[in-house]
Amino acid sequence: STHETWTAVDAYLSSTLGLQDPALENALKASEAAGLPRIEVSAPAGRLLRLLAQIQGARRVLEIGTLGGYSTINLARGLAEGGRVVTLEYDPRHAEVAAANIAAAGLADQVEIRVGKALDTLPQLELEGLEPFDLSFIDADKANNPHYIRWALRLSRPGALIVVDNVIRNGGVLDADGGADIQGTRAALALIAEEPRLDGTAIQTVGAKGWDGFALARVLS
Ligand code: SAM
Repeated sequence: STHETWTAVDAYLSSTLGLQDPALENALKASEAAGLPRIEVSAPAGRLLRLLAQIQGARRVLEIGTLGGYSTINLARGLAEGGRVVTLEYDPRHAEVAAANIAAAGLADQVEIRVGKALDTLPQLELEGLEPFDLSFIDADKANNPHYIRWALRLSRPGALIVVDNVIRNGGVLDADGGADIQGTRAALALIAEEPRLDGTAIQTVGAKGWDGFALARVLS
């Protein structure tokens, strides 16, 4: 079937491009053993996150939606010297598994996990007056995506990049009467278009995770 071919191509890309990484494979095994859902980014997408962090020369990375830390490990591997990822996770069990996976990858000092609803922990980050972010990866509850983009924008430096995952959802994004996740996704894309401080696009993807895609927006000022 088509999906089987997409999955086989992802496996081919991972092996041909040398994307296998023992720390990432162990993180997936441990996450699966702990009963976490398999909704992490694919291996090629994970490497894209790492490349984007490197391209940004990122020292400050924000992630919303940690799960078992698979994308977090990729982002942390792309950090510049002295860099740090702050990752926000609602479910304490996910955060616990992620913390163990991140420590096993040797990245405990580069990653800070904040447990709670992101809409509660984001204002906290602002109050702490941390350095602005160079890259944000938004991958949590899709209904809140417009709020997360506004927060990322508020906490970003000019020239920062904001990545929003799962914006195509098997074409579900076309459904103007779709559920909360679709509404959040459509509102997020509209916000990227309307917000004068953002320049962005969205790219459809196929692969082991099916037909989906991501949006990419650059913070102008
Ligand atoms: N980024 C991860 C990766 O690629 O490895 C996958 C993240 S998973 C798609 C979404 C995560 O967001 C889940 O772990 C879920 O518990 C978390 N989440 C859901 N609602 C949230 C909220 N309001 N605040 C923070 N995290 C939330």
